Amino acid sequence: MNPWLAKGVVLAASVAMVVIRAPHGRRSRGVPVAKSRKGPVEVVLLTLAMVSFFVPLIWIATRLLAFADFPLRPAPLVAGTLCLVLGLWLFHRSHADLGTNWSVTLQVRETHRLVTEGVYGRIRHPMYTALLLYSAGQALALPNYVAGPSYGVAMVLLVAFRLGPEERMMVEEFGERYAEYRARTKRLVPGLW
Ligand code: SAH
Repeated sequence: MNPWLAKGVVLAASVAMVVIRAPHGRRSRGVPVAKSRKGPVEVVLLTLAMVSFFVPLIWIATRLLAFADFPLRPAPLVAGTLCLVLGLWLFHRSHADLGTNWSVTLQVRETHRLVTEGVYGRIRHPMYTALLLYSAGQALALPNYVAGPSYGVAMVLLVAFRLGPEERMMVEEFGERYAEYRARTKRLVPGLW
């Protein structure tokens, strides 16, 4: 199959992700930060996330990563596109439900409200689930051993190193209310974990 099909899908998904986040990011930045836990681990994770977001775009625009190309097949492209669409939908929903309480890092904003409804009603980290789905989609749809899994590696590390500190920060901030919320919801997969 023509690799330009995969390039089109991955480019459209990357643009969609930026377009979905932009208005929410702008709105959140308008609310001052009351507490920040952006330590060195967060700086490394955020840098990795940003760099790995651009790797697929480098694959699309240049021949730099052509050494790691492999043939594109229909089944992974279709499965990957479905994961990307589902991931982007959940990314949009979680941004809409989290509102101005969103931060790119571990932060509590002034007027921060604990969100427990919408997609937060069943899992505590729908945005991370969305990012993992999106990464799986990219790994499936993009026929290159480097660019395909790059964002996924960064997202798995981000989720692995952030879930604990984020939940501790939320317990500090919201106490018993977050503990109750944690007791009745799963982390990333509804009904499972
Ligand atoms: N982990 C969540 C949110 C990611 S954005 C998700 O995957 O959907 C990260 C910021 O969201 C954190 O700094 C924290 O301040 C905030 N946050 C996380 N869970 C929240 C909740 N249930 N209600 C309000 N803010 C939350």
